[in-house]
Amino acid sequence: MDETKHHRKRRMVEKEKSSDSSEDENYVPYIPVKQRKNKQRQEIEKRLGRAEALKEEEGMKDSTNEEEEEEEEEEEETEISQGPKSHLSLLDQHNELKKKAEARKESAREKLLKEEEKILESVAEKKALMGVAELAKGIQYQESIKTGWKPPRYILAMPESRHEKIRKKWHILCEGEDLPPPIKTFKEMKLPKPILSALKKKGIIHPTPIQVQGLPAVLLGRDMIGIAFTGSGKTIVFALPIVMFCLEQEKRLPFIKNEGPYGLIICPSRELAKQTNELIHYFCQALESNGYPSLRVLLCIGGTAIKEQLEVIKRGVHIIVATPGRLMDMLNKKMILLDVCRYLCLDEADRMIDMGFEEDVRTIFSYFKGQRQTLLFSATMPKKIQNFARSALVKPVTVNVGRAGAASLDVIQEVEYVKQEAKMVYILECLQKTSPPVLIFAEKKQDVDAIHEYLLLKGVEAVAIHGGKDHEERTWSMDKFRKGEKDVLVATDVASKGLDFPDIQHVINYDMPEDIENYVHRIGRTGRCGKTGIATTFVNKTVDESILLDLKHLLIEAKQKIPPFLATLHTESEKYLAIGDDVGCSYCGGLGHRIADCPKLEALQTKQAQNIGRRDYLSHNSADW
Ligand code: ADP
Ligand code: MG
Repeated sequence: MDETKHHRKRRMVEKEKSSDSSEDENYVPYIPVKQRKNKQRQEIEKRLGRAEALKEEEGMKDSTNEEEEEEEEEEEETEISQGPKSHLSLLDQHNELKKKAEARKESAREKLLKEEEKILESVAEKKALMGVAELAKGIQYQESIKTGWKPPRYILAMPESRHEKIRKKWHILCEGEDLPPPIKTFKEMKLPKPILSALKKKGIIHPTPIQVQGLPAVLLGRDMIGIAFTGSGKTIVFALPIVMFCLEQEKRLPFIKNEGPYGLIICPSRELAKQTNELIHYFCQALESNGYPSLRVLLCIGGTAIKEQLEVIKRGVHIIVATPGRLMDMLNKKMILLDVCRYLCLDEADRMIDMGFEEDVRTIFSYFKGQRQTLLFSATMPKKIQNFARSALVKPVTVNVGRAGAASLDVIQEVEYVKQEAKMVYILECLQKTSPPVLIFAEKKQDVDAIHEYLLLKGVEAVAIHGGKDHEERTWSMDKFRKGEKDVLVATDVASKGLDFPDIQHVINYDMPEDIENYVHRIGRTGRCGKTGIATTFVNKTVDESILLDLKHLLIEAKQKIPPFLATLHTESEKYLAIGDDVGCSYCGGLGHRIADCPKLEALQTKQAQNIGRRDYLSHNSADW
């Protein structure tokens, strides 16, 4: 007993002297400690020297990838056969080790991914996004709708490798069976001359990437999920083909009274529906004034008289652009029939489902009588919604330009720490950053009103919109702002999706939205179609940490300046954020966490139970939409 105690003491003293911690438990007493230590030290030095040499050879090693280094070191310790005396060169040895480490990491990743998939599955919507009637009848369409449009023959004759090259060059990711070829000019898309000149009049001469790949897909009749940055021209991808199809239809067999619609476009806000309606109307006018048949497009939104809308329907309408509430209302009352409708587009699809319109969308689907072409568009499209929606699509093509949920790179994003009580005053200072027009977003209606009042008091030409205002005021404010008669528009998220104001210079976020997707959509009101803009976001300690982390990683992705209070914000799981190409949360799309830590998922049950619509758009009653 005494003997061992003594030994242990000696060993401890020796340890202090040598400052070497790699003490062996199987102490062998008959080798003098000093000698043994020396030997060990030599070995360690050798090994360190080797590691040093390896690092030198490798040159620029990613210093952030500590995990990898650690694993490699571990590997080296166990693989004695690969010591300096081995016949393999150091570089080869290193490569070998690296491969092994990678493989091990790969399997860990796979495990994590599998676990995440399970979580995603368990929270996936039980019912698919198919219409109730289709589900009941068990109808499964296998083939896409046939259209009269074909790509030019010489493009069809080109090899797939040419198409792949173009997609790569334009950063277009395209998934699905029988991918349609990308087409680089509007002319080759066989659009009628009046359309080409109408586009030109708007300064639209060359298609954007989403149009290069998206238009051929939609024109061919394919179902599609289109994901591209805010302001990258998604509207044209679904607006032009439906005009073309109606034209074809009208030429063959003109619409009679009470017939139609042939195409239906659903938008999450009245203002967006109005804007989309105007664009389609513009194309129809261009055709009509050049001797083509007249096409009728109808806007069905809340806040307007149903009677007028009914009259247009009675004359026979080709295209309806609607918000879900009013559409549901008119479908229920059998004022609109979808018997001949063959084309359905959900613009800002993920937002619409996220806003609680899922059941409405499902019901709308059930009114279709035959097969339809279904299109979903947005700048953000969490996997949860992609998977869920795919069930409603037939042989879908997914066209993806940039990561789903990534912010537009043409927006300079500034995030500033502003105390709650200082926010209002700071807005005035922020307004100095750029010339008008400026958009200010706030989550709550009361805040919008307060900001609006404050700005008016300070002599700023401001208007405001939110769901609590009556339709006339909303329309009036939007018109004034669009025309440039007012400098500032203060709004809730009703104005954050899809609205295309000319030349917004600056978006100010009075508060950070609860969802990072809404942030992406808000700041996407500026920096549209090649122009640049600024977004300033006020945050303070009232903001949830998880949303700040999402924001931080979004800023990193967009190569923006990271303010110190965000830079110092860390979490345990931060190093696992990216697994290969799979970045962030697969449920909500946030970049600052993985699905296992998703705060939205956690909040889901409580929210569902309470069914409280804190955000503005949920406080609409359905007739209002
Ligand atoms: P998104 O729906 O992707 O946010 P929009 O369809 O609203 O974007 O288009 C944004 C703006 O870009 C619109 O003003 C539109 O006229 C313009 N635009 C669309 N396509 C083109 C193009 N190919 N070239 C130039 N401008 C375009
Ligand atoms: Mg849009």
